[in-house]
Amino acid sequence: MKILIAAFCLAFAIPAAATTLAIRAGAVIDPEHGSVARNQVVLVEDGRIKAMGADVAIPANAKVIDLSHEWLMPGLMDAHTHLTLTEVMGGDAPFESFYIKESTAYRALRGLHNAGTVLAAGFTTIRDVGNEGAYAIEDVKRAIDAGMFTGPTIVASGKIIAPFGGQSHSIPPEQGRFWDYEYIDADGPAEIRKAVRQNLYYGARSIKLVLDNNPYHYSLEELRAAVEEAHAAGVPVSVHVYGGAAADNAIEAGVDSIEHGFFLTDAQLQRLKDKNIFLTSTDYPRSHLDVIGTSGGIFPPPEVLAPAIIDRLRRAHKIGVRLVFGSDTVHEVAGRTRADLMFDYLQVWREAGIPAADTLRAFTIEPARLLRVDGERGRIAVGLAADLVAMPADPLTDTENLRRIDFVMKDGRVIRGPARQ
Ligand SMILES: [Zn+2]
Repeated sequence: MKILIAAFCLAFAIPAAATTLAIRAGAVIDPEHGSVARNQVVLVEDGRIKAMGADVAIPANAKVIDLSHEWLMPGLMDAHTHLTLTEVMGGDAPFESFYIKESTAYRALRGLHNAGTVLAAGFTTIRDVGNEGAYAIEDVKRAIDAGMFTGPTIVASGKIIAPFGGQSHSIPPEQGRFWDYEYIDADGPAEIRKAVRQNLYYGARSIKLVLDNNPYHYSLEELRAAVEEAHAAGVPVSVHVYGGAAADNAIEAGVDSIEHGFFLTDAQLQRLKDKNIFLTSTDYPRSHLDVIGTSGGIFPPPEVLAPAIIDRLRRAHKIGVRLVFGSDTVHEVAGRTRADLMFDYLQVWREAGIPAADTLRAFTIEPARLLRVDGERGRIAVGLAADLVAMPADPLTDTENLRRIDFVMKDGRVIRGPARQ
């Protein structure tokens, strides 16, 4: 018995020797500067980048991962996802039909599935911006963080905060406020402060409000309350808004990002730039809009929206607005994964004439800053988490090569590619 106890103590007293992984990379891309360093060695230990450079010595006990014919870059980020939501397409399905028959548990299971899919494709960090039943994504995140499942780092937003009615329209009063399964009705600064606190309480690390989904929208005073309350807790505020006076209020209130912003004017985009507000541009390709249609009356028709999106992205880039990739992918297509659909957005960025280096920045370091995880992720730098992807062709030559990602490392663990753990 004594021997057993001694062995038991010993097992806990001596920490296991850290395994060092040494990646030999043919090229390492720095999206921040659009530069490439050739023939690099990246050492990874305890989930973090320990050293990198052309002259870094590989320790004798290191496990070598040969990516000498690959382009290595920081893991991708998508700042606007709804991992637990799938819209039901076809006919005139109202928006409510997407969630009314699904429990929070089922939503979480879908979220877990999508989380695994997008991580394998190279998205190592995502922000989920609501539509998750009663906080499903917070449990998805908890299960991933506990090591039960693999998935990206998740920045959750809690329930979407909106003026009375959520994103529903003209529901008869006899039906009650069933939308509070998905949304928090909050009208006036006091209710908004409480809604922000509720989301923070249940695990949100970002706050999302819907602004222009009804004839009425949030006042400057209401938005300032949201910003003040969220910023006091150290979390960013993002607002769903297409344009107009609602967008003016959001910009004036100092939100952290505009989500969508399809109809922002040049003057509004200039104010975004001046106030250092990000644009999460959710640039739906026409092929997607033709499938999702008006999304139950939420979007203008595809023939109006598709060209407006390309034009707005081009103008925003020209003006110098800080761009962040967000896909907003919520539909399904047989034979294609959600990640396949997320990469379709790259086509719009090319059509808008965005240089590849700027696109890669919007997929990595800029969302890291918006999500306030840039002290941990978003770059390949010593001390940061080892969230890495690699592919056999240069994405700076053609961003379409991101679809060819065949190596994914998350927090130092190989999820896909050679030496998968
Ligand atoms: Zn969305």
